[in-house]
Amino acid sequence: MRKRIVIVGVSSAGISAAAAARKTDLDAEIILISEETRWPYSRCGLPFVLSNEVPSFKEVRLFPPSYYRLMKLDLRAGISVKSVNTDTKTVQMETLDQQRELVEYDRLVLCTGAASAIPPIQGIEKRGVFSLRTVEDGMRIQKWLENAENAVVVGSGFIGLELAHALKNLNINTTVFERCPHVLPEWFDKDMADLVHEKIQKQGVKVIVDAKIEEILGGDYVTGVLAGGEQYNADTVLLATGARARTQLAKQMGVQLGKFGAIQVNSRMRTSIPEIYAAGDCVESFNMITGHATLSLLGTTAERQGKIAGINAAGGYATFPGVLHSVVSSMFNFEIGATGFTEQYAQQNGWETTAGTITAKTRAEYFPGGKPITIKVVAENDLGKIIGGQIIGGEEVTQRVNLLSVAIQNQMSVSELAKADTCYAPSVCSPWEPVILAAETTMMRRNRRREP
Ligand SMILES: Cc1cc2nc3c(=O)[nH]c(=O)nc-3n(C[C@H](O)[C@H](O)[C@H](O)COP(=O)(O)OP(=O)(O)OC[C@H]3O[C@@H](n4cnc5c(N)ncnc54)[C@H](O)[C@@H]3O)c2cc1C
Repeated sequence: MRKRIVIVGVSSAGISAAAAARKTDLDAEIILISEETRWPYSRCGLPFVLSNEVPSFKEVRLFPPSYYRLMKLDLRAGISVKSVNTDTKTVQMETLDQQRELVEYDRLVLCTGAASAIPPIQGIEKRGVFSLRTVEDGMRIQKWLENAENAVVVGSGFIGLELAHALKNLNINTTVFERCPHVLPEWFDKDMADLVHEKIQKQGVKVIVDAKIEEILGGDYVTGVLAGGEQYNADTVLLATGARARTQLAKQMGVQLGKFGAIQVNSRMRTSIPEIYAAGDCVESFNMITGHATLSLLGTTAERQGKIAGINAAGGYATFPGVLHSVVSSMFNFEIGATGFTEQYAQQNGWETTAGTITAKTRAEYFPGGKPITIKVVAENDLGKIIGGQIIGGEEVTQRVNLLSVAIQNQMSVSELAKADTCYAPSVCSPWEPVILAAETTMMRRNRRREP
């Protein structure tokens, strides 16, 4: 009999689950339910619409409508799933005009994602304070920025810095506040983060670290912020303070949650209830280095997990290996990326580590257009296995992060990576790939430490 797979939430994880389910079972009925009214889109593209690098919010749509027809996916937008009865295997849905409908399922995939985490700061409700998660948020911000002069970005993670870049592109005076001692605290060590800090300040964006926003000032409208006892003028506050898994539905169904409050899944992305799978920002992942639970909250993870959930929900067999928090972005006039653990995180969690950092050119010294790139490779001391990497540099950061990530995933040591068989042509790289040089530096430092 034809299987019915119902997918709740249609973004990175949901779309990927649907495509994988379709490829696994050509006959299955696949219903996608989205409470958002527009065609599924990429959240990752939103900061680049604000910066005017992507011309409009229409452009961030993931697929044309014909894709869903071609894949025989029944996409139902503007409909929210209110509850699930796991005994009768039915989903209770409600349209925007409160029409209710009950749909039966054979397999259910929860891809309910996350919502912006809003910190409990006094004055957060004032007009001019925004967070960015949806196209609607983006449109509100874009409209507001037409009259903005002084903006504050709260949080210096990747999204915070992308927003600072967008504001700078719009010629708005911008200050980034970070409560930790350096920018990008989850991904970069202080030595590397300070280089990023310096580069951003050179672009005319002020960055203040070790500074928690204590209050948002003003009447109905924002006029400034109070941080570290000092007042700073601002007509706009953009919150980039993370995201929280949306688990209301999972809780209502009695699906087991993990220690971070997100849905617990096994390596097949199956929840504690048989025939119910989950993927993306709403689930807890496993760190590939430690095997411990972690939150990923990345589009790449959502896509990969969605694929595994879709294959399994459709009757196939696939497993998810875990995450390394590999990230990359470009902002201002440079790229940054990271994977695995920072040295600081590793040491705080009981690891003894050695790290090596190098700066090299991305093309042959004499070839025009080469840019400086700085790479830090972190290894644990016992076996010299690579556990992290951070990169700041002009070009090709994505593939270098990917190289490090694959090395970590395959438990390579720094000495193994230092001997990797890399390629070369003066127009695109230098004879010694900078990642290899960084691994070699780490290896030599580790060897020196081990010498009697
Ligand atoms: C501004 C921004 C920039 C980002 N940039 C990057 C990047 O460069 N790289 C990267 O890897 N990641 C990035 N991310 C993170 C990435 O967007 C998320 O990890 C990804 O969107 C998660 O996908 P998801 O499908 O799990 O959940 P979501 O994208 O959160 O989607 C969940 C969907 O489910 C719907 N839903 C929830 N509950 C119900 C219900 N009961 N009924 C019906 N529908 C429901 C929601 O409305 C939503 O549409 C960025 C995020 C933001 C906000």
